Amino acid sequence: MTTFNSQLSTFNLLYTYPETIVDGEGIRYSIYLAGCSHHCPGCHNPESWNPCAGEELTEERIMEIIREINANPLLDGVTFSGGDPFYNPEAFFLLVKRIKEETHQNIWCYTGYTLEQDLLRDSRARCGYTDRMLSMIDVLVDGRFMEALKDISLPFRGSSNQRILNLRATLESGSVKLVELGSGRI
Ligand code: SF4
Repeated sequence: MTTFNSQLSTFNLLYTYPETIVDGEGIRYSIYLAGCSHHCPGCHNPESWNPCAGEELTEERIMEIIREINANPLLDGVTFSGGDPFYNPEAFFLLVKRIKEETHQNIWCYTGYTLEQDLLRDSRARCGYTDRMLSMIDVLVDGRFMEALKDISLPFRGSSNQRILNLRATLESGSVKLVELGSGRI
């Protein structure tokens, strides 16, 4: 087996869902990545915090995922979740770039970080890969899960502080643009 990148030995895949309707609009291929440092109380998936959970992401597994995505004409996009895909920015940038370029799918990504507070200004979360990583993502669902704001009626998010950002429009305009769910537009 070929390792995806020898520098990325801690980058693990938890699981994939080849067709799901709960991780964003339309029918999506979901990719769940291991590792999360937010440790939100009430997290639905605490086993995902461990970056060594799941299986090592190999070149063969990535190619298999790309083949599965490209073979399904019903897909509306690809979603990355976890864990927090931003846990390992370098590895995630390389993966999301590859998926975007080789499938041309619309990309949603979940993160426990908050765009303006953590990703667009100097912070522990921001690094040399952050801007390039963000440029590959169409929709960012941001913010930690907050148990006090939990609302099971909300589509595609667990608590009301989390936002479904039209990331391209937000970055281009410099002001927050939310996705108009059900509009067919992002
Ligand atoms: S960011 Fe998501 S995966 Fe990480 S602790 Fe919070 S709810 Fe769990």
